[in-house]
Amino acid sequence: MATLWRRLLQPGRVPGVWGRPLGRRQASLGPDSGAAVRVRFAPSPTGFLHLGGLRTALYNYIFAKKHGGSFILRLEDTDQARLVPGAADNIEDMLAWAGIPPDESPRRGGPSGPYLQSQRLALYAQAAEALLKTGAAYPCFCSARRLELLKKEALRSHQTPRYDNRCRTLSQEQVAQKRATEPRPAIRFRLEEEAPAFQDLVYGWTRHEVASVEGDPVILKSDGFPTYHLACVVDDHHMRISHVLRGSEWLVSTSKHLLLYRSLGWRPPRFAHLPLLLNKDGSKLSKRQGDIFLQWFSTAGFLPDALLDIITNCGSGFAENQMGRTLPELIAQFDLARVTSHSALLDLEKLPEFNRLHLRRLLSSGTQRRQLVGQLQVLVEEAFGSQLRDRAVLDPAHVERVLLLRQGHICRLQDLVSPEHSYLWTRPTVGREQLGALSEKVDVIAKHVLGLFEGPGASLTQDVLNAALKKLSDSLPGTKHSDVMRLLRMALSGQRQGPPVAEMMVSLGPQEVRERIQKVLSS
Ligand code: GLU
Repeated sequence: MATLWRRLLQPGRVPGVWGRPLGRRQASLGPDSGAAVRVRFAPSPTGFLHLGGLRTALYNYIFAKKHGGSFILRLEDTDQARLVPGAADNIEDMLAWAGIPPDESPRRGGPSGPYLQSQRLALYAQAAEALLKTGAAYPCFCSARRLELLKKEALRSHQTPRYDNRCRTLSQEQVAQKRATEPRPAIRFRLEEEAPAFQDLVYGWTRHEVASVEGDPVILKSDGFPTYHLACVVDDHHMRISHVLRGSEWLVSTSKHLLLYRSLGWRPPRFAHLPLLLNKDGSKLSKRQGDIFLQWFSTAGFLPDALLDIITNCGSGFAENQMGRTLPELIAQFDLARVTSHSALLDLEKLPEFNRLHLRRLLSSGTQRRQLVGQLQVLVEEAFGSQLRDRAVLDPAHVERVLLLRQGHICRLQDLVSPEHSYLWTRPTVGREQLGALSEKVDVIAKHVLGLFEGPGASLTQDVLNAALKKLSDSLPGTKHSDVMRLLRMALSGQRQGPPVAEMMVSLGPQEVRERIQKVLSS
């Protein structure tokens, strides 16, 4: 212990204490010379991909692309009892949806596969064997009942439960004897004191004296499955991972991992722990309502770009917060040295605004616009399919015009199929009687409006229409402007309330307005 401190306190070295970020700017952030950058996102398929996971994946992706490296997806499925059906597929699907697909993954394969830990058991057994040989690990024959009792006893005396390392001291003869009746014992790793300090690229010099707070951990269970710590170290080594960028909850485990690297004679990667993503009031992102799962955002019509933008707008990794950045811009502007150790506070109430911005940006590109038109056609069909009396409303030109006209007013494509906007897609069925109840001048008003939309009517703007409609009302003695508006709203949409009449007319376009008004006259 004293030696370690002396070493750390030498001139020119950065002293390290428990996660205090001292002198971290002096650490080199890039890869060691010549070594390719390889990073991994290593979720357990025990749940669907949520915003916290997306953020970890995104920082890994950005870091890889910035350094011309590879982004690897590894699924840590060693806790077979907690696997959730569909989670593995969902994680890979959602990374693709978000636009940050892995270069190597269970589905894509790659040179360091397989990428599912349950298919790599031989590698973990090999490593455990190597550790057993040097005495860095030992077999543990303690029964589940004994371990349970130890735990209960500790809890009763208000202590943190920890294994008492009983099997550490078994002699070779005792081990041989026990193996005769218990051929597949669990393997525990002997935690050495003086855990190595390390310079985390976010938290600075850090060291956790694991041996003084924990018992020796199981690294290989009797069923042949590894626990997280061994599997993670073995895989990061064999997959040639250069940088481990993961959630800060793993910071305290890193000293244990470094002890494993040391015992296996392997060189560890660099570590950068990412602070937690929390709600703006500092509370934990809730998974209860399902509204932090990517699937929910995708179904609700949020754009991947808006999500990537908002989760990188919480003050970490960039010189400034700035709305509207695209993935290539995020890659260009990202700087790992700027990731702070403060939690990132996410204000999801702002997501609709982020979405509006990215929707507008996408609409300005021809290819993206065509895709959005296609998506809106599907939404209209889904929402109003059976009510679409005339399928002309699905005409790409009509859908595109609506989209371009309303883009500043909507946050998501879904907003355009809300009841308020149903008039855009369904033709009203209003009889003359209904209209006559609103004003007796139905014919005069309808004919006048038809006149407005003949010839150069196509270029009528909202302002021009407002003025023309006011003029029309003024020319009808005894008729109030509000009655004229009510009648036209009803004729155009079948609704008593809704957007201003001139706005409706512009959104529908001259041809559709003419159709709807003609229908009034011929009814
Ligand atoms: N399987 C761990 C998790 O789901 C990965 C931790 C790591 O990246 O090392 O958080």
